[in-house]
Amino acid sequence: MRYEHSVHQSAEILRMVLPNFPRHTAAYHPISYALWYEYAAGINPPLKERLDALLAEGRTIDDDLAYALYREYILDAWSSRSLSVNHQLEGLVSTFELSAERACADAEQFNASWGEFQHKLGAAPAEMRDQLASDLVQSGLRMRSAVHELRTELQASVDETRRLRSELQRLHSEVMTDPLTGLCNRRGLDPAFAQIYQHALESGSPCSAILVDVDHFKRLNDNFGHVFGDQVLKKVAMELRRRARGSDLVARLGGEEFLIVLPHTDGATAQHVAEEMRTSIERGELKQRGPSAGTAKVTISAGVTVMRPQDTPANMIARADSAMYRAKNRGRNQVAMMA
Ligand code: GH3
Ligand code: MG
Ligand code: MG
Repeated sequence: MRYEHSVHQSAEILRMVLPNFPRHTAAYHPISYALWYEYAAGINPPLKERLDALLAEGRTIDDDLAYALYREYILDAWSSRSLSVNHQLEGLVSTFELSAERACADAEQFNASWGEFQHKLGAAPAEMRDQLASDLVQSGLRMRSAVHELRTELQASVDETRRLRSELQRLHSEVMTDPLTGLCNRRGLDPAFAQIYQHALESGSPCSAILVDVDHFKRLNDNFGHVFGDQVLKKVAMELRRRARGSDLVARLGGEEFLIVLPHTDGATAQHVAEEMRTSIERGELKQRGPSAGTAKVTISAGVTVMRPQDTPANMIARADSAMYRAKNRGRNQVAMMA
């Protein structure tokens, strides 16, 4: 899920949100903020309907209620969206079944008419044959129109299936993507890493991982603001992606931490790649003008590790993390290796 409002629009919403807090007893935390934000922005109709009903009853929104509403109307919104796609798919399957049943019934009826016609034709005197031929033509015409109708319905179902399939794909990739950087998120990382790992096990080729953490990112946020911090994260992500190979997996682990998984790559090569990432970021391609201050110096520390026998992806991440801390302790803006 992603809020599409600009800074200006969200500031306007913030203005509408604020008066709600003192009217209720829920604490002023992000959960209650999210509720009032979506309510004020008018982007969550079911939540608005429920809150309006509660407010009309004179209910006070306390912490428990705020958490319950958040869970039901915001957190579960994603799963219910996929559920709704699933329901639509089930509906489509029923339509297919109905159409197929109708087609069978029509075909059976045609068969019966045809058999009857043959029988009658054999026994009929010459003067009745015209009438029988006309009956046959009518029956054929009815069959043709039934087939035509079926084809139209099936085509509509096929179009709808395609639409639902692409909606499912979109939902799936959205859930696996970090909205800020466009990189794979933690949810997407696990299955992708598992696949690379399995392939490395089977092929016996080496596999490495680099864990990257932005140095003194908190200070950067404090000095230049969160919006600028976000821009730095986007730039770092872009730089990591640019230095990685197409087959490498680049993911945002969370906050200012990233993981790069490099299939078919030994430790020395991965260390070289990490060093290139570090220098290109340090070289100042990421220097940006803050809103009021001058330019920010952005550096990263990186930990590199290689797959060991009896390893697991989780162990590799933990080792890369230890290596990264080693780089921090040695003074930051450097790469450390833990093979
Ligand atoms: P170190 O060099 O030891 O890594 O120090 P650090 O300041 O980078 O590390 P620390 O873990 O103390 O701080 C990380 C900060 O990252 C704290 C948090 O506010 C900030 N942060 C986490 N996620 C985001 C985000 O999505 N956007 C922004 N702007 N800041 C974030
Ligand atoms: Mg960190
Ligand atoms: Mg950091």
